[in-house]
Amino acid sequence: MSNFEHSTLVSDLKKSSKEIINELKPEQADALHMAVGIAGEAGELLDAIKKWSIYQKPLDLENVIEELGDLEFYMEGLRQSLNLTRAVSYTHLTLPTIYSV
Ligand SMILES: [Mg+2]
Repeated sequence: MSNFEHSTLVSDLKKSSKEIINELKPEQADALHMAVGIAGEAGELLDAIKKWSIYQKPLDLENVIEELGDLEFYMEGLRQSLNLTRAVSYTHLTLPTIYSV
């Protein structure tokens, strides 16, 4: 596929920003905000672990703790946005068979 074809394919298939904004409901905007936050904080956590494990930098445990806290914030925010509880999330936790009863 040429660059032109790829560019045309993407512009033909992607949803327009106007359409997204016009369709977006407040509860969807809130959930999107929380989900984007989760992805961003997961990236920040990954970067901290990457620096330690791949580049052999000292582990910045303070930063890791901060990013885990940030993740907890956005995960709770998303659960609240979707009227879910942490307990409900845990009921769907997939554990290795060694922990199965
Ligand atoms: Mg952070």
